[in-house]
Amino acid sequence: MDSSKIYDVIIIGSGVSGAAQFYSFAKHSDLSRVALLEKESQAGMINSMPTNNSQTLHEWDIETNYDLEKAKSVKLKSGYTRAYVTEKSDPKLFLQWPKMVMGIGQQECEFLEKRFEEFRGLFPTLEKLEWEALREKEPNVFKDRKQWERIMGLYNPDGITVNYSLLAQSLVKDGQGIAKNDPNKEYETHFGTKVVDITKDGEIYRVQTSDGEMKAKFVSVCAGAHSMYFAKKAEVKEAKHLSLLCVAGNFYYTPKYIDTKIYTVQDPDLPFSAVHWDPDILDPNRTRFWPTTRMVFMLERHRYKTVFDFFVTLPPVFKSLIAYLKIMSDLKFALYAFKHNVVFQIPWVGNYYFWREAQKIIPSLKYSDVKLAKWQGGVRPQIVDTSAKKPLSLWEAKLSAGNIKFNVTPSPWATTCIFNGLSDAKEITETLGGEFEKGVV
Ligand SMILES: Cc1cc2nc3c(=O)[nH]c(=O)nc-3n(C[C@H](O)[C@H](O)[C@H](O)COP(=O)(O)OP(=O)(O)OC[C@H]3O[C@@H](n4cnc5c(N)ncnc54)[C@H](O)[C@@H]3O)c2cc1C
Repeated sequence: MDSSKIYDVIIIGSGVSGAAQFYSFAKHSDLSRVALLEKESQAGMINSMPTNNSQTLHEWDIETNYDLEKAKSVKLKSGYTRAYVTEKSDPKLFLQWPKMVMGIGQQECEFLEKRFEEFRGLFPTLEKLEWEALREKEPNVFKDRKQWERIMGLYNPDGITVNYSLLAQSLVKDGQGIAKNDPNKEYETHFGTKVVDITKDGEIYRVQTSDGEMKAKFVSVCAGAHSMYFAKKAEVKEAKHLSLLCVAGNFYYTPKYIDTKIYTVQDPDLPFSAVHWDPDILDPNRTRFWPTTRMVFMLERHRYKTVFDFFVTLPPVFKSLIAYLKIMSDLKFALYAFKHNVVFQIPWVGNYYFWREAQKIIPSLKYSDVKLAKWQGGVRPQIVDTSAKKPLSLWEAKLSAGNIKFNVTPSPWATTCIFNGLSDAKEITETLGGEFEKGVV
């Protein structure tokens, strides 16, 4: 590692966010020295791993918690990821998979009817299916179902399932390839290199890594929940009143019962998805039921050393504890949290209660078919604003201080990584006085 070299930009973290940013610099910026640092041996090994997330390209057609305005913005942004993966036409990278939101009972069906009228202009492939048409598509949804129950689906044949880990690897590879063919670009990737500290020295940032020191004019931290860890360590003003609620998702495998990704109507008072079924790009012959929503005190799932890092993100401790209490003071939320954090965690009992919940989608689902996916499911770093009346935020946190930027929670999630990467790369390039290709974002 050459500590005399000064990079234009050092990107920390090569999940989909950091990888998309690296690719965006290589393809559209004239900055000549960019380095990507990642502590794991390759890109996309933490939250972007297919075993740690639901692999969905979200567009907000079937996610009923979000309104039309939000859907317009997300559809536009997710379009960049859709265009990239479909151009690759690699079945390991993405699968075309129909998706639907299913309403059960009169109230939910009426809600979906209204939503259909509102959303069909934005999603021309969206169809409204009633009992008979639905039964033709998904007979197992109707096996053992009570005949008197009204049921309806908003069905979109144009869904996309993505292996975000392979997407991260592909973006890095493409970025490296583009930079290699450009004599003005010296782009580097360092895997197995852990960043331990970042300090400011005049106009330059010193990045201490497990392999030595590196220097840069701009540092972009795309390290997932660890971005908040670094923001707190750097005492960034914007981060002072923020902390994290780390929400892990568990899921259960069952044999394949259905061919459509099925969401259920979400409770508008609860910020997390209702029970749903997802395909698995690693093995399309099995079914994954999600989510259980579990609070954990670590920044990376099943990495118990990151408990210490979580405590770095906690201050102001007293205010954070008050904010957690405020979140739990909502009775509906507290009951939800109790079910997911206590009941679902009890061996066998947890399986039983989750099975009952999943039967909302497949009434004939057998208890013996439901198996907890052990050591899987990632952690969502949700932002807690200790100074807000409603402290839990479901949206992104991008913090900055001078020429350092921290991407904690990409919005919304991996889906918009390429759009986010392009926007950030453009902003950083212009801050450094460089040129970014016009009209890209
Ligand atoms: C249960 C669950 C389900 C989800 N489902 C979906 C979904 O269906 N669709 C969707 O779009 N999104 C989904 N998400 C969200 C999505 O997984 C994340 O938003 C996305 O993976 C975040 O990417 P990232 O690059 O920001 O972070 P990560 O993928 O976590 O990458 C951060 C990288 O930084 C590296 N790093 C951290 N610290 C250091 C350090 N000190 N030095 C060097 N490197 C470091 C890590 O090793 C890691 O590679 C889900 C998340 C969860 C938890």
